[in-house]
Amino acid sequence: MSAALQADQIVVGGGPAGIAAVRTLLAAKQRVIWIDNQAWPGGQIWRGGPARHGSALGRSWAQSLNSLLADPLLTHLPGHAVIAAEGPQQLLLHDSQGGASLRVSGAQLLLALGARERFLPFPGWTLPGVTGAGGLQALVKGGWPIKGQRVVLAGSGPLLLASADTLRSAGADVACVAEQASFKALSAFAAGLPSAKLVQALGLRWRLKGVAYRTGCWPVRALGDTQVRAVVLTDGQREWELPCDALGLGFGLLPNTELAELLGCRIDGGAVAVDERLQTSLPQVFAAGECTGIGGVDKALLEGDLAANAMLSHDLAPFAKPHARALAFGALLARHFALRPELLKLADAKTLICRCEDVTLGDLKAWPDWREAKLQTRCGMGACQGRVCGPITRDVLGWPMAAGRSPREPLQPAPMRCFL
Ligand SMILES: Cc1cc2nc3c(=O)[nH]c(=O)nc-3n(C[C@H](O)[C@H](O)[C@H](O)COP(=O)(O)OP(=O)(O)OC[C@H]3O[C@@H](n4cnc5c(N)ncnc54)[C@H](O)[C@@H]3O)c2cc1C
Repeated sequence: MSAALQADQIVVGGGPAGIAAVRTLLAAKQRVIWIDNQAWPGGQIWRGGPARHGSALGRSWAQSLNSLLADPLLTHLPGHAVIAAEGPQQLLLHDSQGGASLRVSGAQLLLALGARERFLPFPGWTLPGVTGAGGLQALVKGGWPIKGQRVVLAGSGPLLLASADTLRSAGADVACVAEQASFKALSAFAAGLPSAKLVQALGLRWRLKGVAYRTGCWPVRALGDTQVRAVVLTDGQREWELPCDALGLGFGLLPNTELAELLGCRIDGGAVAVDERLQTSLPQVFAAGECTGIGGVDKALLEGDLAANAMLSHDLAPFAKPHARALAFGALLARHFALRPELLKLADAKTLICRCEDVTLGDLKAWPDWREAKLQTRCGMGACQGRVCGPITRDVLGWPMAAGRSPREPLQPAPMRCFL
């Protein structure tokens, strides 16, 4: 029988949205249970804790975090994943270190689940040495040796540049950042940025001086036998080969919605649907940050604070304008980094789509929909439980995400004893 804990509020997610929410809830003297499957709060951007990252924003949140973690009203559960739910007020957790399970309950729940990278398949994309751009960045933040290695980053969006910055600081030779959006789209994006973000972007580009940043350019093949040794890029007119030791891919981000779906929250456009108070379609369940729509760290911090204030039934009027600005930035990102249709046609019949179960595009094309393909090929039944191949089958084969794809317990692989 698993142990049980109770509090006024439960927050799932230790990224910027979760950190901001916990700070507001503790300031209001709430008893908070804070769950995150990483070892240290910080989420994707401040992996390993904000103190380890050089930005002024990270440093200021690192200071707040120390006092939050010392607050006796907080029960902090790092290294715990929510794997099942007996309703929104009671969650079942798996402790990835100790292996034990834990039941937690609270009157209200905040989902600050973040986002993951979006992958698009092309020949060679599963070769060793080919990873997500953010995944490679995360590995390097965790100490992965990249010094002296020649790296190409390809895909779309600001994360490519953020990854390039981290990799270069760690001593990588970043040979090229290939951005699929056109120069025109990027210029329009820059023109629409508020001045503070434009200054940030220019600062980042300045730090990356000497790194080739090619717009209107995308990968078509990764070459190698047991390890990637080169990538073939195209600008739609011609193709050329670029040698590399590592290839980081990132075609934008996808909100993490599995826990929200499991609870029965409405999903809209791939994100957790929320009202202006950030309440989901379920009473007492709120959501904040990337899981409600991609918008970056500023949106995540603001929404964490906003959602916590809504949970406390505080006046939300001061949030209206900054929230509108944060949402406008998200819309600007989506508009100018929209993926070009050519990217969805790169895979051939032999290209793996489900890398957990070795299912190719040719295997999948024999079946009419996700459900039938899953039953016949085991696509989506491996360790990632369709988190990578599910969106690919939507993008490449046009199979809707909703039809027959509801997540099942456990949300992440967990020992049977967790359920006893
Ligand atoms: C790989 C990657 C790298 C990124 N790097 C940068 C960067 O360098 N700079 C930048 O500006 N932006 C980066 N981003 C964008 C980033 O998403 C936001 O800037 C910011 O981190 C969003 O904060 P958040 O709190 O919404 O989500 P996140 O920071 O993603 O935090 C969500 C947290 O919830 C946890 N979680 C989710 N589901 C569960 C569950 N069932 N049980 C327990 N815990 C759970 C996740 O593990 C994660 O720790 C990156 C995104 C990704 C995917």
